[in-house]
Amino acid sequence: MRLFFFGDYDLMTKMYGICSCNARYCCLHCTASRQRMATPRDEREQSPARTLQTIMDDFQKYEADGSRRSRAKDVSHSIVAKPFLEIDTDHVVLPSLHISLGNFKQMYELEEHCHKLDYTLFKLRVTHADNDDDEEDPTNFDKRVTEEYTKRLTQAKQGLL
Ligand SMILES: [Zn+2]
Repeated sequence: MRLFFFGDYDLMTKMYGICSCNARYCCLHCTASRQRMATPRDEREQSPARTLQTIMDDFQKYEADGSRRSRAKDVSHSIVAKPFLEIDTDHVVLPSLHISLGNFKQMYELEEHCHKLDYTLFKLRVTHADNDDDEEDPTNFDKRVTEEYTKRLTQAKQGLL
């Protein structure tokens, strides 16, 4: 019989004795530090794999050092407890919810950046169109933004029909 483990990342860290989701060595599958994870993958060396055996070994180092949580990042790759179950890390299902949330967050931020860029370009376009006027009139600008917004909204609604 083969057992698999799945759960959200918070539960995984608790089950395998990792200090926390924000620990220096928070990955269940390798011992990359958070700093190393921030480096693009093709610019960093592969980190040693984390297995049930390396977690047990790190837990022994943690105990031998006096079980001080504040020292776990330096002595035991952030391991502070013995794994709750003896299921090796290659039998742990990846937390797909958290992975997809990360991707969706990045897409949302990209959309926000695009919206700001769109707004800046539109503002520049309106400013250039106002060059014939003696002074730039912010009220007129707001009116033009509203008109452009209404126009685009109408076009979008027509596109849906
Ligand atoms: Zn990893």
